Amino acid sequence: MASIFSRIVAGEIPSWKVAEDDRYYAFLDINPLAEGHTLVIPKQEVDYIFDLDEETYTGLWQFAASVAKAVQEVIPCKRVGVAVLGMEVPHTHIHLVPLQTEGDLDFRKEKKHLSPERFAEIARAIAVAFNQQTV
Ligand code: 5GP
Repeated sequence: MASIFSRIVAGEIPSWKVAEDDRYYAFLDINPLAEGHTLVIPKQEVDYIFDLDEETYTGLWQFAASVAKAVQEVIPCKRVGVAVLGMEVPHTHIHLVPLQTEGDLDFRKEKKHLSPERFAEIARAIAVAFNQQTV
């Protein structure tokens, strides 16, 4: 059965998309640690990041770097933190989390509650920043 993230890529489940190319997809985490918390995935469905073939693995990090720059343009932060957990969804994904302090990357913290309008606004702004960068 397709993973929930493959179903998002296929458009069967909605997402707040921020970036996409033929091999990768980035969208806002539905339970964000901070505004702009983004997930970056390969479209190829592989559970564990270190099982990706080398080209997909390298491309994923390159794509994530471009997305992170767009996130940082939109969400004022000191750094964009990076985490790979995969404890919940068995489809490789990189978390990009805008950070003010080290503690902002604590996944045990209570998640932010954002309105659908706010999610949409953030996703649109990151998408614009991403598309400007890659032109
Ligand atoms: P992990 O697998 O890295 O431990 O956690 C999975 C992450 O995916 C969580 O942060 C969770 O909020 C996010 N997530 C799970 N299901 C969905 C979904 O359907 N849509 C979105 N946008 N995020 C999801």
